[in-house]
Amino acid sequence: MMQRSLDPENWEDFRKDAHSMLDDIIGYIERVAERPVWQPIPEEIRARFREPLPQEPESLGSVHERFMNEILPHSVGNVHPGFMGWVHGGGTPVGMLAEMLAAGLNANLGGRDQIPLEVERQVLSWTRQLFGFPDSASGIFVTGTSMANFISILAARFSILGEEARMHGIGGRKLAAYASSSAHVSISRALDFAGIGSDALRKVPVNRDFEMDVDALRHAIEADRREGFTPFFVAATAGTVDTGAIDPLPEIAEIASGEGVWFHVDGACGALGMLSPEISPKLSGIELADSIAFDFHKWGQVPYDAGFVLVKDGELHRQAFASGASYLSRGRALSAGSPWPCDFGPDLSRGFRALKAWFTIRVHGSRKIGQSIAHTCELARHLVQRIEESDRLELLAPCPLNIVCFRYRCNNPDPVNLEIVARLQETGIAAPSTARIEGKLAIRAAIVNHRTRIEDIDRMVDAVLSIGKNIHE
Ligand SMILES: *Cc1c(COP(=O)(O)O)cnc(C)c1O
Repeated sequence: MMQRSLDPENWEDFRKDAHSMLDDIIGYIERVAERPVWQPIPEEIRARFREPLPQEPESLGSVHERFMNEILPHSVGNVHPGFMGWVHGGGTPVGMLAEMLAAGLNANLGGRDQIPLEVERQVLSWTRQLFGFPDSASGIFVTGTSMANFISILAARFSILGEEARMHGIGGRKLAAYASSSAHVSISRALDFAGIGSDALRKVPVNRDFEMDVDALRHAIEADRREGFTPFFVAATAGTVDTGAIDPLPEIAEIASGEGVWFHVDGACGALGMLSPEISPKLSGIELADSIAFDFHKWGQVPYDAGFVLVKDGELHRQAFASGASYLSRGRALSAGSPWPCDFGPDLSRGFRALKAWFTIRVHGSRKIGQSIAHTCELARHLVQRIEESDRLELLAPCPLNIVCFRYRCNNPDPVNLEIVARLQETGIAAPSTARIEGKLAIRAAIVNHRTRIEDIDRMVDAVLSIGKNIHE
């Protein structure tokens, strides 16, 4: 009989291959700083990913070799200390190993009675402790903050419209939501997905520090009430993508509570600043939120993907998602332990994201993770200092956390700075991204990776100066 199982025919050979794969990927992380951050992808390599469906087997070793030669060198590079684009975490070797163990267990965390769910519940209880939430608060791992924002909006929709909206949609209800003009696009997309419509989002202006103008928020809510809208959701951002600004959380909380509006915090990057005693005071007021969305895969350094949503009223959260029939059929043995994560979000089958967060937090301890977070802010301040010391460079926004927006001074600065960023990426020296700050094109460096050192910052600044000079002369 032919073997029909997909397990290895020879476990000894498999073990050898497996160990060499592990060695290779550990070696990659260990020596990643010697590589270019990113490199342009040759057409012949891209073409190799357009092959037809393979019918015949290929050895594990040969597929691994393709990974090493074609995939590994051409990823985004966010493991590298010189990566400063967008907001990408660096991952850790510990998180990688946990991900491997989770895959071996092939756990499905939709529900059932299993210790993997207790691992997720333990991480939930750590997040409650971190954010000063009560034991009755609920939460689950999700792909990322985009999904966490979406779940929060659905919970807020339930809190205002109840079961009715779950069955019949929002009908002609005129709902209004609020976020600053610097809020992440995932908020407006979530309103779209929730059937409320992205037009329901009022983009509240920001002050000079790019924080939500709370008087403008008050006025926007009043104006909506006059027009017959029902304000139902306000999202403050703790660490905006462009500049790292933190909206005034206590003031927004007060307005929201006075108005009976759901108070959400998008803390994708910033919320885990709570792990650092230097940064947590800036996040004061986050404990007042009705829901918090954040990512372990950014400042938490847990490998992708590992977003999290925390909802203060756990019972309301469950009612906003649980489906009656399946919820009521729970019972004994494998059906015990209700409620389950599938009662708190759209996913039924779910991977064991909790394990890599649990390992990362246990092995490193929360203090050390907090120190690495604080260190990224110190590096950002060093970058600000380098900018302020140079008459060729100009800071374009305040830097409250770990994101620095600046540019090379010259005539015609937008195309020159765009060119500088492209050359930095193409030469593999560093990978910042760009942002528009009050209409000006900025080189934007988000220091998120725990591997980034002062040398990486200096190397980037030196390269900006020399590329700028080169283009300009
Ligand atoms: C990154 C980010 C998001 C989106 O999070 P994902 O994990 O990419 O889905 C939302 N809001 C802010 C402020 C972010 O920085």
